[in-house]
Amino acid sequence: MNKVVIVTGASRGIGRDIAKRLAKDGYIVIANYNKSEDKAKSLQQELASENINIDIFKANVSKRDEVKELIKYVIEKYKKIDCLVNNAGIDQVKMFLDITDDDWNNIINNNLNSVFYTCQEVLPYMIHEKNGVIINISSIWGLTGASCESHYAVSKAGVDALTKSLAKEMGPSNIRVNSIAPGIIDTEMNDNLNKDEKESLKEEIPLHKIGKVDDISSCVEWLIEDEYITGQVISINGGWLI
Ligand code: NAP
Repeated sequence: MNKVVIVTGASRGIGRDIAKRLAKDGYIVIANYNKSEDKAKSLQQELASENINIDIFKANVSKRDEVKELIKYVIEKYKKIDCLVNNAGIDQVKMFLDITDDDWNNIINNNLNSVFYTCQEVLPYMIHEKNGVIINISSIWGLTGASCESHYAVSKAGVDALTKSLAKEMGPSNIRVNSIAPGIIDTEMNDNLNKDEKESLKEEIPLHKIGKVDDISSCVEWLIEDEYITGQVISINGGWLI
């Protein structure tokens, strides 16, 4: 049986491309979504038109109960989970002094607690099989800190710390855990930037371009197939952070 991969937040952006790439390359893909059901269905239909089947599953991964339902569904249907890609995430641009308790908790719940829940629900199955790969999509801001996105930066730094901790704890069970920390990638998450802002960002980046979703999805596939990389934070950023 081919490898079974769960991709969280796969209705749009980076997660959608990860799901698409893996499905086209023969993995059994469960594409999770939350609000964008129409987009998740369009991904499923797009692939079906090429005779490729994927599962789509609605779950808000910031809620433990919904994560449990997602994992239960996958285990009942496929009996195993080879790989978990924690991609779901949200962003908010706000000055530190304006961040409310609700803002803070919303970012931490969606970006960090979600990864805690999915890892805790999936790992018992991976440990049982003595086999598994977890890839967490964090962010360059978790490495550098971010002005006006401090809660986002904290959430992603937390993801990277969890990645390293789990790599140490789960290595003896033959489970590899890595983070990919993108720089700026062309998705709806950056729709708040106008054309001039994007141009000036390009100037700052040594490769003078904004990343594409497949810059991330190709690395995800490579990390799934590798056998010796664990506990690493791979920042894909065009040289923005060296
Ligand atoms: P995006 O285009 O805004 O898409 C976000 C995806 O996450 C959507 O599919 C959304 O699903 C899903 N999602 C959000 N909260 C969720 C939840 N609670 N449960 C389930 N799904 C949820 O963002 P993106 O740019 O592709 O970002 C993907 C990941 O890369 C994020 O973790 C982000 O922080 C990280 N990242 C992005 C960039 C960048 O420049 N784009 C840079 C660094 C890191 P629904 O619409 O169905 O709710």
